[in-house]
Amino acid sequence: MIIVMKQGASKDELAEVKKRIRELGYKPHVIHGETRNVVGAVGDERGKSVLQALESLPGVESVVPILKPYKLASREVKPEPSVIEIVPGLNVGGGSFLVMAGPCAVENEAQILECARAVKAAGAKVLRGGAFKPRTSPYSFQGMEEDGLKLLVQAREATGLPIITEVVNPRDVDLVARYADIMQVGARNVQNFALLKILGRLDKPILLKRGMATTIQEFLMSAEYILAEGNRRVILCERGIRTFETATRNTLDISAVPVLKELTHLPVVIDPSHATGHASLVPSMCYAAVAAGADGLIVEVHPTPETAASDGPQSLRPAEFATMMTKLKAFAQVADKSL
Ligand code: PEP
Ligand code: MN
Repeated sequence: MIIVMKQGASKDELAEVKKRIRELGYKPHVIHGETRNVVGAVGDERGKSVLQALESLPGVESVVPILKPYKLASREVKPEPSVIEIVPGLNVGGGSFLVMAGPCAVENEAQILECARAVKAAGAKVLRGGAFKPRTSPYSFQGMEEDGLKLLVQAREATGLPIITEVVNPRDVDLVARYADIMQVGARNVQNFALLKILGRLDKPILLKRGMATTIQEFLMSAEYILAEGNRRVILCERGIRTFETATRNTLDISAVPVLKELTHLPVVIDPSHATGHASLVPSMCYAAVAAGADGLIVEVHPTPETAASDGPQSLRPAEFATMMTKLKAFAQVADKSL
């Protein structure tokens, strides 16, 4: 249920509404709007009609049901797009277009430092790099784990770029959170509800990737798992879905961007690297992301893709990334986004 507060309702009136929601066995989530506040009351759908009684409380304008199965992620609860702080001074959502870039996996000090400096020089605002890698084969490189996280921190110190890295296992959340600025949930873990719940209790932005066979509704329900635990900083990432097509690694569902934008206030970014699987196809999908209304990109860049431990064929060289970024700026300008 959404409890819509009157314009100018007092803090005490809001506090009373929150208290009554808790007493009825629901969890209140306050969304501060431009003109008025609303309180999302989430919990067991079956008995939600008891919340209707809150309509008679002072300061309450109306109590309306949330029709979508995902509640806190929906535009019904929060019509304005969310602007999410990554670190002080750096946001995703709203009028800006955030580019995150770096190698698929952290491999060694020279590789990550060179990559960090190159993507920063080209205009990326966040460094990506996997330290825990979910690989299809157990015999493939699995990542440098904590040593990789330490190298990412070294690259952050050298460049000032915040870092995004994947957490694969719920057991590693605390460890990864000690190093990362953004926690990435990979496509394979989009419905690892135990992991999502733990991340929901964290005070860190979470980049949630769509699974390769996840519907938009399932994707938003996964986001809801994080939001319901209290963490509002969820960034959605479309990274391609599995179809019959084999010319590309996955099929980039570019229409997922406007669809998500209609349904949710959460920022949406595109991963053109895993979507296509081929470096030559990545730049055009970056431009398409801007045109579709995305809030940013996460792109794989490697100083020497031919020697990469993972995902070399889809990684841009630093010079290719820089060329893409130059052209991207022109597209961003047309789309009224600042890069
Ligand atoms: C990655 O970002 O390197 C990755 C493993 O992506 P995905 O989870 O989208 O396959
Ligand atoms: Mn990868």
